[in-house]
Amino acid sequence: MIQLKILRRIAFIGCTHLGSRFALWPRTVPATVEADIELAGIRHTILDYFYDFVEKVRAAHCDSVILLGDLIEGQNSKEYGTGLITSKVSEQLDAFIEVAKPLCEGRKTGIIEGTSYHVQLSGDPMEKHLCSQLNAEWLGFIVNKQMEPSKLVFNMAHGYGGGGTNVSTAIENEIKEMLIAEAQGSIPHIDVIVRGHLHSSDADVTMRGKRFIRVPCWKAFGDWKRMGHYYGRHQPIIGGKVVTVYDDYIDVASHIYPTPKLKAIDGSDKF
Ligand SMILES: [Zn+2]
Repeated sequence: MIQLKILRRIAFIGCTHLGSRFALWPRTVPATVEADIELAGIRHTILDYFYDFVEKVRAAHCDSVILLGDLIEGQNSKEYGTGLITSKVSEQLDAFIEVAKPLCEGRKTGIIEGTSYHVQLSGDPMEKHLCSQLNAEWLGFIVNKQMEPSKLVFNMAHGYGGGGTNVSTAIENEIKEMLIAEAQGSIPHIDVIVRGHLHSSDADVTMRGKRFIRVPCWKAFGDWKRMGHYYGRHQPIIGGKVVTVYDDYIDVASHIYPTPKLKAIDGSDKF
């Protein structure tokens, strides 16, 4: 039997959305309004999931962590600032540091920029301020990195677009366009593509010689009106990934948790 040598183990998470009432938050915030009591319980469940994931990362001896953007909710300008625990971005960043410390400490950490309407204030990506606290490298909105000492090049971005009707169409299009750009000599050969952003998608596919990994989220509900458009499609998946890197091969472990359901959408609320 061939023994493949493990060269790296990298944890990937994204879309933690700290600051949203529906997402990961480090403390049990006392519910200030009656409507928030249910959400406080949901946040606590997601926090338990997150610490379980941190435990899995520890057990797997991960040497690195990549944070794939939308780490904070920001001021949620897209939905006019609704659904926030706090609109103060500094408090959201502090909260992220509190939860992410045990994940990042002692591990090489990289941060990818999230979507502008969550993480920017006047063109300034606020997630960049996490780098000094988490001893992390700022990787910008898209980056190619060879995961040394392996030969493999990872192309990593937060992720844009949903591909019209089918998420699988977007994955195939992304791979095809990259193959064309590689043939033109515009970009290096890419082995692994990593994206987040879609919340409702958890993918690990190999197609036309490339591996595509989609990382899900840490938010129980999409409180934006487009949620109503293809309601079933926008239901979130919660969890993270651990990627084991060999010389010219990877293994992907998905750690997916059951999404806590709001009474209003699980059917138990009566009219
Ligand atoms: Zn997101």
